[in-house]
Amino acid sequence: MERPNAWKRYTSEQLEELEKFSSDYTAFLSKNKTERECVASAIQLAEAAGYRNLEDVIATQTALEPGSRVYASNRGKSLILVELGTKPLTEGINILGAHVDSPRLDVKQNPIEEKNDLAYLDTHYYGGVKKYQWVTLPLAIHGVVAKKDGTVVSVCVGEDPSDPVFVITDLLIHLAQEQLKKDAATVIDGEMLDLLVGHKPLVVEGDEDKKDPVKAQLLKLLSQKYAIDEEDFYSAELEIVPAGPARDLGFDRSMILGYGHDDRSCSYPSLRAQLALDEIPARTALTILVDKEEIGSVGATGMTSRFFENTVAEVLALAGYGEGSLALRRCLTNSHMLSSDVSAGFDPAFASAFEPKNAAYLGRGLTFNKFTGSRGKGGSNDADAEYVALIRRVMDEHDVCWQTAELGKVDLGGGGTIAYILAKYGMQVIDCGVPVLSMHAPWETISKADLYEAYRGYQAFLTLA
Ligand code: MN
Ligand code: MN
Repeated sequence: MERPNAWKRYTSEQLEELEKFSSDYTAFLSKNKTERECVASAIQLAEAAGYRNLEDVIATQTALEPGSRVYASNRGKSLILVELGTKPLTEGINILGAHVDSPRLDVKQNPIEEKNDLAYLDTHYYGGVKKYQWVTLPLAIHGVVAKKDGTVVSVCVGEDPSDPVFVITDLLIHLAQEQLKKDAATVIDGEMLDLLVGHKPLVVEGDEDKKDPVKAQLLKLLSQKYAIDEEDFYSAELEIVPAGPARDLGFDRSMILGYGHDDRSCSYPSLRAQLALDEIPARTALTILVDKEEIGSVGATGMTSRFFENTVAEVLALAGYGEGSLALRRCLTNSHMLSSDVSAGFDPAFASAFEPKNAAYLGRGLTFNKFTGSRGKGGSNDADAEYVALIRRVMDEHDVCWQTAELGKVDLGGGGTIAYILAKYGMQVIDCGVPVLSMHAPWETISKADLYEAYRGYQAFLTLA
């Protein structure tokens, strides 16, 4: 069985819509490189589409009814959007879920170091990265510094063409005889990921032997620009990401090279499908954009927190279902979910890692994974055959181009997603997503066709009655 190539099926109108959607996505990806930035931008789009903050709705005890649109932000790092449908909530809702955090390097709490007239920020990588991929590229710093007085300073350096950028250095080839004997896992180790951030010493008259003058100069600049001091790094969340915008890739502009396709190539189209509902859906539509997937969905803003359950409980109460838990349990058990995360795109350069009949191919559309996991489906959510059949039906009815895949060869490795966490409520959940080349690399590649088919597939899913 081979699946069709989406590009061969498009009408000129669809190609135009595909290009428009891709350019919106590329702009979103270029602007939003952290979970906080993604959530802030998503809230702007939601408010423009008539979504109200759930906190305000609770404060005013405004009743929710079919067509009501509300959003709930969890510390600005994860977000839920809900549009109430015409059917009773206890019959279940349609859920789109994806994550907005991406692999990166985080700045340590005590990060500044001066060595031989060079100043560095020390880092601890976040998520699974091949460390050798992060050297000798222009890097940017995005994030926040929370000060003791309660103010929070936003930082974004390295994105404007007039901004400086940062870098992690590598050893010159001429002296790399010993280094090149190391294996790829250890050639750059975690403690070598030090970000070069300054070189000019602070000159203080009468104190020519001042200790760490480059660090002193750096701290002076930070104080002038952001009004922060060294101790403020204790309460900062600063993320180091590849600098610069996402770009069209290929002579034919058929692909997009960008940072953070994992998992914004799924979370952005999920968000847009939710916002694009033009008539009130039968079943309530809910989209969740979640943080911390790359490190196991832990913490208050990860999928394992109670934020999702609590938010649905608030919606039920405001919609007149009372404050007990039975309606909530019925609602969640009867729900359907597309848990979206990127798939490994088949890469001819590394063909031996894939099983070609069950691989995701660029251009063949939204990819469904009945199960994920590793070494015998370990850690997987395994969707029911009956649910897979329902999904096949709705995708085919809406002429969505889709394919099925496993991550790679059975014994080579694997990975988990947020799917199993939602499945705990007894709801129907299946993994799906956009195929990516060079997943978790600083610059990842996707096909515009798969992005567009994800958007179309999510819209089709939200019509499930
Ligand atoms: Mn990932
Ligand atoms: Mn992912």
